[in-house]
Amino acid sequence: MPTHPALTALQDRLTGALLLPEDPGYEAARQPWNLAIEQHPVAVATPADVDDLRALLRAAQESGMTLAVQPSGHGASGALNGAVVVRMSAFDELSLDLESGVATVGAGVRWGAIVAALEGTGWVAPAGTSPVVSVAGYTLGGGHSWFSRTGGLGSDNLRAAWVLRPDGTHERVDDDTDRDLMWALRGAGGLVGIVTALEIELVHAPDVWGANLTFDVADAPAVVRAVRDLAESAPASLNVFVNSMRMPDAPELPEQIRGRSFLTVQVLSTDGPEDELVDTVRRAGEVRREITGPTSPAALAAASNEPTEPTPGRGASMALSVLDDETIDALLEFRELPEHWPLMGIELRMLGGALDAPRRPGFASLESASWLLHALVPVIPGVPVEPGDASLVAFRELLAPSEAAQTVTTFLGPDQSLDRCGSAEDVARLRGVRSRVDPDGLLEEGRLPR
Ligand SMILES: Cc1cc2nc3c(=O)[nH]c(=O)nc-3n(C[C@H](O)[C@H](O)[C@H](O)COP(=O)(O)OP(=O)(O)OC[C@H]3O[C@@H](n4cnc5c(N)ncnc54)[C@H](O)[C@@H]3O)c2cc1C
Repeated sequence: MPTHPALTALQDRLTGALLLPEDPGYEAARQPWNLAIEQHPVAVATPADVDDLRALLRAAQESGMTLAVQPSGHGASGALNGAVVVRMSAFDELSLDLESGVATVGAGVRWGAIVAALEGTGWVAPAGTSPVVSVAGYTLGGGHSWFSRTGGLGSDNLRAAWVLRPDGTHERVDDDTDRDLMWALRGAGGLVGIVTALEIELVHAPDVWGANLTFDVADAPAVVRAVRDLAESAPASLNVFVNSMRMPDAPELPEQIRGRSFLTVQVLSTDGPEDELVDTVRRAGEVRREITGPTSPAALAAASNEPTEPTPGRGASMALSVLDDETIDALLEFRELPEHWPLMGIELRMLGGALDAPRRPGFASLESASWLLHALVPVIPGVPVEPGDASLVAFRELLAPSEAAQTVTTFLGPDQSLDRCGSAEDVARLRGVRSRVDPDGLLEEGRLPR
């Protein structure tokens, strides 16, 4: 398709950069962080400021193209033909008010920068497990963190946002000035405005303590049941993740994990040691390895082994309303089937606590769910990634009977749309907000159900 003159003209007008398909550098710039997604936008823009963003909106208006704000492309989900991808790296403001526990964060900032800046302050960020995910993309998509039982979803911590509306108005919005827009920003952000900065409430956690218990896979049925039962009595200050790992027999892997299956329970308390509660899990099996003591988000991030370079990641997530014995057994049996070897990691996150009582209205909600599961087909150098898709489909089918009414946008697969995150009324309300603020559809409609 020939480049529209409105875009060619923009190349001279922007203070930032605009790469067209014929430009050197376009090929690398068009790639999303998730390299499994192929996208071919008409251009890739890196605006320097709000005036550049306004010029991009005008060009979209003239040319009939759309703007797809995509800080990194961790959450890339489509081909984006006919869209201009907008990278927000120039919006790099970061200021922390440690008196009131509020961070003001530019739309190009990634979580790693905030986690590092908060180390030792007594505050933690409502950040996900990856330091390279953008604060904006995560928060505007709901965002579930290590501390969500204590502090709620990332979007619940969004106090206000600086928003550029498609009509060119740039202003600070909060629940008092535009409640409907804030509701939509909390979970379906990209559809209703270009956010240039966010005001985020931090989670007060002066005494972060953690326990990391590794069990043999044979103990998994009893240990997962013990974690499930712990959810009944656990205070909101206790956050629990379970990881079931099945490593391939690949010479590239370290000897101690190569070809092995194991289960890890990670407990995090924002209220100091909780050894008695952890003991209920500890007694359910034979602990092969244990690390217990004070910890911090930076230490957790360093130990998490999340990829920090663009990767062709594949996975499937499910929010479950219940985790009964039958579901636990079916999941663990499924896990051991030889044909599902590509599915190396299955993570279970305990929900509840603050997630059951959101402090602010938002499209994103995990109120209907009690567990969040994620199955991962990671890319390990030297290990073939195929097959794997069939295992992910089977994983979703297996858990469908226990699926909760809603999950969050940040846990959707590339093929899934927002009707999995809200009711028909929620999606209709979202369309209503969008047609009010973006009547000409200048912003890419992304995951809106077709
Ligand atoms: C290794 C890894 C670990 C992860 N761990 C977690 C986790 O623990 N918890 C969790 O909840 N998620 C997690 N995620 C998912 C991640 O949070 C989402 O994919 C998130 O959307 C990525 O944000 P991004 O900006 O980096 O990605 P992008 O794909 O660049 O952006 C995602 C979407 O956000 C919107 N958006 C971004 N910026 C703006 C803006 N300025 N204005 C308007 N709209 C905007 C757009 O709709 C865009 O499509 C993880 C992802 C990876 C790859």
